[in-house]
Amino acid sequence: MTARTSDIARAAGVLRAGGLVALPTETVYGLGANAEDPAAVARIFQVKGRPPSHPLIVHIAGAEHLGDWVEEVPATARLLAERFWPGPLTLVLRRGRRVPLEATGGLETVAVRVPDHPVALALLSAFGGGVTAPSANRFGQVSPTTADDVRAELGDAVDFVLDGGRCDVGVESTIVDVTGELPSILRPGGVTREDLEAVLGYPPAVPSTSHVRVPGQHPSHYAPRARVVLVEPEKVIAEAELAQELGHQVGVFLPPSFTDAPVKAHAVVTVPGSMAAYARGLYGFLRELDRQGCDLIVASLPAEEGLGLAIANRLRRAAGPRTTA
Ligand code: AMP
Ligand code: MG
Repeated sequence: MTARTSDIARAAGVLRAGGLVALPTETVYGLGANAEDPAAVARIFQVKGRPPSHPLIVHIAGAEHLGDWVEEVPATARLLAERFWPGPLTLVLRRGRRVPLEATGGLETVAVRVPDHPVALALLSAFGGGVTAPSANRFGQVSPTTADDVRAELGDAVDFVLDGGRCDVGVESTIVDVTGELPSILRPGGVTREDLEAVLGYPPAVPSTSHVRVPGQHPSHYAPRARVVLVEPEKVIAEAELAQELGHQVGVFLPPSFTDAPVKAHAVVTVPGSMAAYARGLYGFLRELDRQGCDLIVASLPAEEGLGLAIANRLRRAAGPRTTA
């Protein structure tokens, strides 16, 4: 589905007037504001219920604009931008002066990306500036991958929702910090570690804990209402049936190798064998099991290679302790 030209023009007008626009990208839907308007950026945090210390991503129309938003463009950043933009790769660089500290959570670095979605690119071109956007969900919740998800999640709190159909990648962008000597992956996502290695000539580090404040690194994030429990693939059915017998409304993420097995549970999602299809469907599956009234979801982790690394990362956080609001 492609938004009409009049919708794009209207959305650009909303951004210019300091409003919020939900926009489709290839990863998930974003909640966008004019990156250079501190008051509009502040509204994003208010609507999401997100702590203001958590930085946002600045979306731009093309790699040729990167230099306008950062202090300098190191050679590695240029290489990665040329190879992966437009695409699900976010680069963290030293903040340029036109980026307000509101958009970076007070950090001297800024995250920038060019989304690979015709509607997002049309909006960025029509608007002419940078659009800062986190995922269009309340803080800590599952990211939206359809315009309906956004409406259900944010309702009237957003001034305009641009509908661009279902997001193709389905999980957030890979965030790579290129401010240090060697690039490192702050958050796994749509561009795989293997893709990055093929271009860099060496595998980028994936630090388990980073000193950089990254919302995706909160213990609980990307979480549905239902509690998520992770077990070994061969234990999914037994664990689910036990919990169902104990009185839970259990939703099951059935691993692809168990497709035909009957499961006594409240709701069952058969996980796609292809990691691209799994990533595309992941947040929709979590939302669907919530919708069906599950209070517990039993799942297992895919092999942590390719897109499986990002999927496992999101499932772990969905299953993380919920002590933070
Ligand atoms: P969200 O789409 O809700 O995940 O939010 C945008 C993402 O951008 C966050 O998860 C942050 O991890 C990331 N981000 C934005 N700016 C920076 C930065 N300066 N350093 C590290 N990560 C950043
Ligand atoms: Mg998010």
